This record gives sequence, C-alpha cells and structure tokens, in this order.
Amino acid sequence: MKTILALSVSALLLCAGAHAAEHHQPHWDYDAHGPAHWCDFSAICKDGKAQSPIDIKTSETVSIAPSHVIKLNENVQASSQIVDNGHAIQVNVENGGKITVEGVDYQLVQFHFHGKSEEKIDGKQYDLVAHMVHKSAFGNLLVVGVLFEEAKERNAILDAVIKGVGTKTVLNPAALLPKESGRYFHYMGSLTTPPCSENVRWYVMKEIQSATPDQIAAMRKFYDHNYRPVQPLNGRVVESK
Ligand SMILES: [Zn+2]
Repeated sequence: MKTILALSVSALLLCAGAHAAEHHQPHWDYDAHGPAHWCDFSAICKDGKAQSPIDIKTSETVSIAPSHVIKLNENVQASSQIVDNGHAIQVNVENGGKITVEGVDYQLVQFHFHGKSEEKIDGKQYDLVAHMVHKSAFGNLLVVGVLFEEAKERNAILDAVIKGVGTKTVLNPAALLPKESGRYFHYMGSLTTPPCSENVRWYVMKEIQSATPDQIAAMRKFYDHNYRPVQPLNGRVVESK
C-alpha cells in the first residue's frame, strides 16, 4: 500500500514544474525521461492542444482547398552532415532545396528518422518514418513525413544515410520523396520532441516508400523506439489531397 501511495504521489508531481530544476543536466529520452515526462522540459508537451503525432482517420479527413498548392523543389545535391543526435539519426543539410506553400518558401534544414512511424493512418503504425524539417525566413516550421514499409525494394538514400553516420557527404533530399508527392494529408501540429512547439505545418505523404528488412534493422540498431505516442486531435481537421 505504501508503495502504491508513493507512486501516485510521484505521479501527481509529474510535470508540476517543481522538480524540473533538480535536474542538473536536463535531458529527455524515450525511456526513464520519456514522453510522459517531457513536460518537465516544456509545459506545452502536456498542455498544448495541437500536438503531433496524430492518428489520421481517413474517413474523417476533408478535401484540401484547391487554392492550397505546395511546390516541392528539393532535387538538389545538398551538402549533408549525418549525425547521431542522441535521439535519432539526423541529416543536417545546406542548400537542401525548398518547399513553397501559398507563396511562402520553407528551406529544408534537416531530415531524421524514427524507428517506427510516429504518425498512424487509420490506427496503423508504419515500419519507419523520415521527417523532413523545413523553416521559413520568418522561422515558421513545416515538416514532410515520409512513411516506410518493409518490402523487397531497397531504398538508395537509406543506405547512404546508414553508411554515412558521422560523416559529411552529398545527398539529394528528393530521393526520399515518393513519386506521387502531390498526394498527402495536411494538418497543423507540433514538434514531436521537446520543446513540442506548435504551429508546425505537417504534410504526411500518402504514397508509402519501401525499405528492405535489413535496412530497417540497420536503422533500428541506432534507435528502435524513438517515437512519441499519438496525441489528441482536439477538434483539429486533417485535410487530404
Ligand atoms: Zn521526427
């Protein structure tokens, strides 16, 4: 009984803000300092009403307005630093191309991988996801999610990333994108890691990319459960094109 009481008291203290200062070196992870504790680092991880990832229920999506046009221009040879950032394998790119949405340019700044998809579609979690993080000149963020499923077809850019961790190389970010990049889900969400900042434009590609079992296993050797659980929609509408 004492144990149960102690546990529930500590659960009440969770994210109350009082013990955040006790951490000499605040850090977060997917284990002891996992998603339920991230509000220790940023209150919005718990209090935000427009958090990511989400489960996209396709029957509840609405058609995107015809005026909503995105242009992807990422077919470039980008200088790419491939790093293990402690939470994911991440590729920091210079001059990595851009996406233009309703006249606003968002430059690709990095892409990274989660060992299983964070976003779900109709409850289904995919085998891997790449998040391509873009930033506008005003600092607004836009993320393109590319889902992967285990299949026989090898993905060339995954090989380059896995082999190149810790090195600088040249990659073409467009190689990550599906052929049918004009079909996607769109919603407003957040970063899926602390500080969980909101007002992030999300585009989740509908066409699923393939990766071989050994590629997925190689990526998961770095991180196999670095995915945040899905978050409530809180009335948000997901648009579909
Ligand atoms: Zn991500």
